Amino acid sequence: MDSKTDALYMQDNDAVSANATVLACFPLHELEEDLKPLFKGAPDASFVVVTDRTAFYAQGGGQPADAGQMQMTSSSPDKTAIFTVHGVRKAPSGAILHVGTFEDGPFTKEDAVDQTVDAATRDLHSRIHDAGHIIGLAVHALVDKIGPVEDTKAQHFPAVSYVEFKGTIDGAHKAAIEAQANEIVDRDLPIQVKWWTLEESRARCWCIPEELVLEEGEKARAVDVPGLGAYLCGGTHMKTTGGVGKIEVKKISRSKGSSKISYAMKA
Ligand SMILES: [Zn+2]
Repeated sequence: MDSKTDALYMQDNDAVSANATVLACFPLHELEEDLKPLFKGAPDASFVVVTDRTAFYAQGGGQPADAGQMQMTSSSPDKTAIFTVHGVRKAPSGAILHVGTFEDGPFTKEDAVDQTVDAATRDLHSRIHDAGHIIGLAVHALVDKIGPVEDTKAQHFPAVSYVEFKGTIDGAHKAAIEAQANEIVDRDLPIQVKWWTLEESRARCWCIPEELVLEEGEKARAVDVPGLGAYLCGGTHMKTTGGVGKIEVKKISRSKGSSKISYAMKA
């Protein structure tokens, strides 16, 4: 798998449809062995589709993949293949692999296809993702109460969403963190995607890995809530904190010097 796919969401958060050209299409069992674990549990009849560009978010950074469909563009009326996308992952080569099932398929190389991402799922994933960042910003805003902690990792899957910190966050702060997060939501602050140099990233982002290096001229993608801080982030986002909706802090748990804040979106 040596092709590369242009990930449209990196530049345009709102791109939930696109036309693309098929670079490869083959049954899942023909995928390189080392990439197969990415799609564990996919149905036997699944296919892999690789395109030159994609509107589909590939699972990563704690955010689940988009779902949706690809179908032949209207310029090929004799072919009616419809591909339902169940999983999207990025291969180390930079190729984005869409795994799913066909009706009247498969595609062949060079086919022109229309991609349609399920906008409601994308919207939910963006909200859950931004809610995680908002909790991080709330925790930092409460440093006087909580004490300094460091963001480590996060998981933004529905039903198992959490943000984790190095350091101790006492369970007694649960209500204060939820209130602070929802105050950020209520203020309806802008959520902006920025491209920053290493120096800008270190100056403005909350958690920059020590080992982060950028090539000459390369910029890092960050998500910024001006005034509250930023995080390096390759995910999809809402336009404002108000669009995220109310957040529920479900639980704070501590283990081996780390604290995990589990959260959900309020109905
Ligand atoms: Zn993020």
